[in-house]
Amino acid sequence: MLRIIRIGAFTVAYAVAASAPASAQDASILHAQLDELAAAINDDVVAWRRDVHANPELGMQEFRTAGLVAEHLRSLGIDVETGVGGTGVVGVLRGGRPGPTVALRADMDGLPVTELADVPFASKVRAEWQGREVGVMHACGHDNHVAILMGVASVLAGMRGDLPGTVKFLFQPAEEGPGGAAPMIADGAMEGVNAVFGLHVFPTPVGTIAYRTGGMLAAADGLRIVVRGVQTHGAMPWGGVDPIVTSAQIINGLQTVVSRQVDLTNSAAIVTIGQIEGGNRGNIIPDTVLMIGTIRTLDPDIRERVHERVRRLAESIAAANGAEAEVTIDRGYPVTVNDPALTNRMVPTLRRVAGEGAQVLPASTGAEDFSYFAEEAPGLFIGLGVGADDPSLVHPNHSPYFYADERALPIGVRALASLAVDFLTGNPISQE
Ligand SMILES: [Zn+2]
Ligand SMILES: [Zn+2]
Repeated sequence: MLRIIRIGAFTVAYAVAASAPASAQDASILHAQLDELAAAINDDVVAWRRDVHANPELGMQEFRTAGLVAEHLRSLGIDVETGVGGTGVVGVLRGGRPGPTVALRADMDGLPVTELADVPFASKVRAEWQGREVGVMHACGHDNHVAILMGVASVLAGMRGDLPGTVKFLFQPAEEGPGGAAPMIADGAMEGVNAVFGLHVFPTPVGTIAYRTGGMLAAADGLRIVVRGVQTHGAMPWGGVDPIVTSAQIINGLQTVVSRQVDLTNSAAIVTIGQIEGGNRGNIIPDTVLMIGTIRTLDPDIRERVHERVRRLAESIAAANGAEAEVTIDRGYPVTVNDPALTNRMVPTLRRVAGEGAQVLPASTGAEDFSYFAEEAPGLFIGLGVGADDPSLVHPNHSPYFYADERALPIGVRALASLAVDFLTGNPISQE
């Protein structure tokens, strides 16, 4: 059994040697059993995926999906709690032997996108979103995540007698916003969890697995700057304080936050102003200008530093002009950090599942609220390639043409199930 050590917020089960690791032979028996169960459940996984795809639900409205998940988990003899953090579902599978607890996460929500993909199970669902009627589609591929984790539950329930420890299945709502991970954690979903794993489908080559240590996905924070000057005639600028010229200086100044004030050898960062509003006539200097932007960072310390420097720079440039800058930063999802020790330990597992297809991926400046789970316990979030061989079917996540090649589904099931089994058993690395 593993020994568990707590260092700060992190439980380091893997830093101390397992006192009685399973032998390589035991491991390969378990892996063979796992692969067999995954193959046996694959037709069901495909059917669940198509069913969920045809019936997408917007964030915090995943009633049908949550019902499907809860019913399936119960049918496997897994303890189920529903209504966690909204429409979330938590399943708890206790293995036949004592051991640590591992959590596996899938997100369940669709997007307000009208599907244009040419598949027989394309969504025709419409719903109200922000006061408008919209099409709803699993344009981010969360239907695959739901079906894969349902399949993983079947596989692990089939091996429960051999599992040393507990598996928690986290089916979360509203990843696309307003976020379902944080409310699930507030409801206790991560209590007692020693490691957490999740995956996301991307239109990369089918069956490949992408991973990296450290920042995998960015923190996404909203930026809003209101520059207040003093209104005057455009022909007599000395009579007021010009917020337009001040804003121009601030926008230029912001470029130096990343280029001059961030250690770019650590990771990338982005400060973008995407919207600017001020004035309504060429010969009137207005009294205010509004700028809206986004800040993306891949390291928690750099995130704080960029926030502080953006504030300081905008406020100081405004003050130098006799104006005032009011800077508001809306903290979005944090950086999704893959725990380096956990990631390195699980690489052989990913290699066993995907072979050469398990590759280190460049970080993405998109964001994910898996990050909140990975703040509660060491986490590893991987990318699963679902891109078809036919390039005309390859479209980015959130596209109305987003298409997932279902040959990736069994790889996803084997990946998450293997991560759980190898973590619980002390990761007996087979010498294949
Ligand atoms: Zn998405
Ligand atoms: Zn997504």
